[in-house]
Amino acid sequence: MAPRVAIVGAGFGGLCMAIQLERAGIRSYTVFEKAGDLGGTWRDNSYPGAGCDIPSHLYSYSFEKYASWSRRYPEQPEILGYLEHCADKYHVRGKIRFSTEVRRAVFDGTHWQVTTDGGTEAFDVLVMGVGQLNRPHMPEIPGTADFEGVSFHSARWNHGHDLTGRRVAVIGNGSSAAQLIPRVAERAEHLHVFQRTPNWVIPKPDAMFGPLTRLAFHYVPGLQRAYREWIYRYAERTLYPALSQGWSVGLLKQRALRHLRDQVPDPGLRAKLTPDYPPGCKRVVIDSAFYPALTGPNVSLVTDRIVRVTSKGVETTEGTYEVDTIVYATGFKSTEFLAPMEVVGREGQSLAERWAGGAEAYLGISVPAFPNLFMLYGPNTNLGHNSIVFMIECQVSHVLACLPYLDRSGPIEVRPEVMAAWRRQLDAAMDRMVWGAGCQSWYKTASGRVTNNWPGPTTLYRRLTSRPPQPAYRAVTGG
Ligand code: NAP
Repeated sequence: MAPRVAIVGAGFGGLCMAIQLERAGIRSYTVFEKAGDLGGTWRDNSYPGAGCDIPSHLYSYSFEKYASWSRRYPEQPEILGYLEHCADKYHVRGKIRFSTEVRRAVFDGTHWQVTTDGGTEAFDVLVMGVGQLNRPHMPEIPGTADFEGVSFHSARWNHGHDLTGRRVAVIGNGSSAAQLIPRVAERAEHLHVFQRTPNWVIPKPDAMFGPLTRLAFHYVPGLQRAYREWIYRYAERTLYPALSQGWSVGLLKQRALRHLRDQVPDPGLRAKLTPDYPPGCKRVVIDSAFYPALTGPNVSLVTDRIVRVTSKGVETTEGTYEVDTIVYATGFKSTEFLAPMEVVGREGQSLAERWAGGAEAYLGISVPAFPNLFMLYGPNTNLGHNSIVFMIECQVSHVLACLPYLDRSGPIEVRPEVMAAWRRQLDAAMDRMVWGAGCQSWYKTASGRVTNNWPGPTTLYRRLTSRPPQPAYRAVTGG
């Protein structure tokens, strides 16, 4: 009998799982989505300028060729449109329960009891597709509640608030800030950008696709696939070695320094924007409009330490900046995987308890004593150099390969010794990666453990996830 599958989240991960179940003829699934629409991060991040810095021919499902991309790096509305297109084409929209947040999931010995505000239902399999960047991080700056102007997080953009003629503060300078700052600068009377740590920035070689190119992508056999493969290989062969401290480290640094020199003529500003840690330690920002925006007459870069937010603006160690709008581009609670859901395994332990020292999962997918629980874009599967959609597709294939096994044996779980060996291999691989090198980032916990990133080539990840589930998994006997 087909397993009953609960999928949590209708973003890139959850939709991919649902589509592949449909394609496999398994229709006994339900997608739980806490919001009123699908799209996950591409629904939530609608700030001006939001887009993807991985080309969409790669940042899209391999099975869904799409000739409609208007440019190499499309903005958020197009990516969201692509996900809507996929949900409709593969008939999964009708299986999504919108505005239904999963609060709790408990394994009762044979099933997952999944609780939403509407009640509790039993499922054979639970697939978590909530991603790593779904809960905004608001900074622990004193006084934020005292501010009398308008403030919001970049992932909760206030579209009703016109920025024309406003004095605006943007706190943060990561990928989100870099994309929104040029757009805010176009409208604001003055924009103060509060930078705590400079980022390495490389250019984004964007280009529009003309009608002929789009026709070619649509009609020339193999062209879209070849283009996708080319981008994938470039990322894998050039960018990955920079992160693993291989041959291209110097190249990446030179590229970033040249970009800074080309776009920022003022040596004082350049000095403020030059990081003192190796490129890739924090996520490299890929953007060509960020630096020019910072050189504009109505933009100032503030590098003093923020002391507090007051009713009128932002106070730093050097003075107060009066503003009427504050945008918190301060990132996400990235290391709290699956929170605030309570997920309880077969031994009565919650994942939060199990992960007190940092989240971990075999292949980033499975956890011992949590049978038939699978995660998409789980611990140690984020990338700093290639498309997450590739990783998600590997994970979905792995889950699909597990389904016949659990159909025969009942609930299955990854063996504890396999998990322990995985941890050791991960730690060894992590040692050569740049993320440990003297910087703080959303890739790691406060204690410095990298819980978010995958330390190997993605080709290796594909190989590992495509192995048959046996012997890594075992049937859960006695219940
Ligand atoms: P982020 O990279 O985590 O950046 C958060 C920013 O807020 C940092 O500049 C951080 O400074 C600053 N910040 C946090 N707390 C602060 C405080 N108390 N005081 C002052 N500054 C503070 O978040 P993000 O920009 O939203 O990006 C998150 C990730 O989303 C990216 O790395 C990327 O993977 C993804 N993303 C991707 C795209 C894309 O094009 N593919 C676009 C946007 C986002 P510190 O650096 O000093 O901590």
